[in-house]
Amino acid sequence: MNSGILIVEDEPITQRMLAANLERAGHQVRSVSTVPEAEAALNEYLPDLVLLDWVLPDATGVGLMRKLRSNQRTREIPIIMLTSRARECDMVTGLDSGADDYMTKPFSARELLARIKAQLRRRAPQTTDDLVEVSGLRIDPAMKRITASGQGVSLGAIEFRMLHFLAVYPGRVFSREQLLDKLWGDHVFVQDRTVDAHIRALRQALRPSGHDTMIETVRGEGYCFRLKTIQP
Ligand code: CA
Repeated sequence: MNSGILIVEDEPITQRMLAANLERAGHQVRSVSTVPEAEAALNEYLPDLVLLDWVLPDATGVGLMRKLRSNQRTREIPIIMLTSRARECDMVTGLDSGADDYMTKPFSARELLARIKAQLRRRAPQTTDDLVEVSGLRIDPAMKRITASGQGVSLGAIEFRMLHFLAVYPGRVFSREQLLDKLWGDHVFVQDRTVDAHIRALRQALRPSGHDTMIETVRGEGYCFRLKTIQP
């Protein structure tokens, strides 16, 4: 598990406890204490998930969440609200304003990690270590291993992430720009044709088993991973 998680929490002890637990689980963590700090961090990078405290010193977490939900760039980031309020109407407000999940303090680290994993599976499956098995292709993110019809496939780091990313969203078309954002991070300057070069390398590595045909070029749009039966 190698997901980027942004913690927005003003209580130092809680913030440190959260960060320690998430880091131990293999996440890449960044912690901030205020809404302006969170906004600055989000301008710099896109986390895979945000843990957002309800009551912050200068503003409410709900306000920040509404902002994130109304911005194209941050709209899809899973958000888990953290709060010490347990009133049902607060929970409803939190979920209504766009939280994907809601946890009332105190909670166990184990429960939090389970809820984070559930959100990542749903919204960012490419960041989980779940084994992906489709049409004789087996992608093991934890071991960084790929086999095609039982034969090992050797891929560069970018090609590995590219195949993993495409394979967890079968049938979905991604533009070169979207692939750049997802695989290199947004704000990173890479040219579109770099994507094409990596797609070429990926197809070449998958050609011996015939799995290269699963990666389709969609003219004028981008690339798509199609599920199909590959005869070994
Ligand atoms: Ca607080």
